[in-house]
Amino acid sequence: MATFRNACGECGYTTPWLAESEAERRLVDHYARRHPHLPPGGAQQIKGGGGGGGCGGCGALALGLIVLVIIIGLAGQK
Ligand SMILES: [Zn+2]
Repeated sequence: MATFRNACGECGYTTPWLAESEAERRLVDHYARRHPHLPPGGAQQIKGGGGGGGCGGCGALALGLIVLVIIIGLAGQK
């Protein structure tokens, strides 16, 4: 069974892994308390549902690290 997590778009808050409706309710509650003048936003993450278990952020993180190493290398040559 897939579980859902909602991340706040305004601060670093994320709900625990929950059923979709519960995760949405938690985020709405969070916005009502912390960001009462803003409509609920942010991002939803989905986990589970069988198979895969990939790491979507890992590739981007590795790429960023490689770019950083190249920039440092180029800077060192001057
Ligand atoms: Zn927030």
